[in-house]
Amino acid sequence: MTRDHVDVAIVGGGPAGCAAGLSLRAHAPELTVALFEATAWESPRVGETLPPLARRLLEHLGVWDAFRGQGRHNIHREIHGTAAAWGAPEPQERPYLFATQGNGWHLDRAAFDALLAAEAERRGVTVLRQTRLRRAERTGTTWRLHPAKAAADAPRTARFLIDATGSAAAFARRCGARFVATDQLTAFARLFQEGESTDPGTLVEAFAGGWWYTAGLPGGLRIAACLTDADLARPMELGDPAGWDRQLAATESIRRRLQGARPTTPVLVRATPSRRLDPVTEGGEGGWLAVGDAASLFDPLSSQGILKGLRSGIFASYAVGDLLAKGDPAGLTRYARSVEGEFESYSRVRARYYAEEQRWPESAFWRRRVGA
Ligand SMILES: Cc1cc2nc3c(=O)[nH]c(=O)nc-3n(C[C@H](O)[C@H](O)[C@H](O)COP(=O)(O)OP(=O)(O)OC[C@H]3O[C@@H](n4cnc5c(N)ncnc54)[C@H](O)[C@@H]3O)c2cc1C
Repeated sequence: MTRDHVDVAIVGGGPAGCAAGLSLRAHAPELTVALFEATAWESPRVGETLPPLARRLLEHLGVWDAFRGQGRHNIHREIHGTAAAWGAPEPQERPYLFATQGNGWHLDRAAFDALLAAEAERRGVTVLRQTRLRRAERTGTTWRLHPAKAAADAPRTARFLIDATGSAAAFARRCGARFVATDQLTAFARLFQEGESTDPGTLVEAFAGGWWYTAGLPGGLRIAACLTDADLARPMELGDPAGWDRQLAATESIRRRLQGARPTTPVLVRATPSRRLDPVTEGGEGGWLAVGDAASLFDPLSSQGILKGLRSGIFASYAVGDLLAKGDPAGLTRYARSVEGEFESYSRVRARYYAEEQRWPESAFWRRRVGA
């Protein structure tokens, strides 16, 4: 049904935005919700490992059976852990670098995100595909919404805005929020058609300038990425395929896993510093709140980005639901504290993992992390 006005406008249909929509419908079904998504989830997305703990969140969101249905069609690949040459040259098997319990998955991320959006739509969220929200103006207690192109079914106004635009945090930043970052980690990733190795497991390899990982994806694809700080990447020429290949050739285990693999993309550059947004929410009615990567960004080493996105979408729905349906703003403060607390405990675990690698005490990359 077309509505000119909704209670909540969610901007971004990644895991965080979709989880917020799904959970809002369950927690405060009297509220109307629209989700703007710039794409139709048509192209491959980076960020693929879903750790075992995600099962509980997918069950909570009521999408576990639908997810398992995708698994039965081999849309996602089951995996049982990670091997890491971390602290020593030979890769050691680890159940998970940051997690425990059962098997995880290497996702077809576009299919996963599209599934979450379709489930949200089935529960009453108005999902606006290929509808980028260009601008939103706050007038008192109302948001005026301006999509990039006219969309007949797009609402014009909303009572509250959830920024789920990923690492851009586009709307929160326009409202004056700023990032508090602890590093400038950047990923230089490429997708491949699998070669000799069809091992789906994640393989991590540290080197003096940072670390590499590769993982087998569904559909015979493979991802490989080099992670280093933005300033250290320049002399390595990682943004250029020839420079990227030269750095790959200097690895031990990663290059063997990639033997015979054929690149299908140029080098995709993604900034992925550890950082949080300050503040993550503002205002009561007519206010905003950030979820997922917009609220905080974790090192991909943690494989926690999707999990964190789902969790923050759920917590945000409680805060926004209580505000708009019961007039209780206290949940917004609790939400802000939970994002801050989560970031602090993540930072402690991250420091412990980086401290395990002591082979290059003179290198800028490791010096910045070990003992920081
Ligand atoms: C190299 C790399 C490897 C990673 N590996 C992992 C991993 O193994 N496991 C893991 O859990 N995480 C991983 N991550 C992190 C993970 O990808 C993110 O944490 C996760 O995607 C965050 O979800 P999100 O919903 O917050 O944002 P996103 O997934 O970024 O979704 C944001 C959405 O907003 C839409 N959008 C943006 N602006 C607008 C607008 N104006 N209007 C409408 N729509 C808009 C975008 O199209 C997109 O769909 C990795 C990240 C990188 C860079």
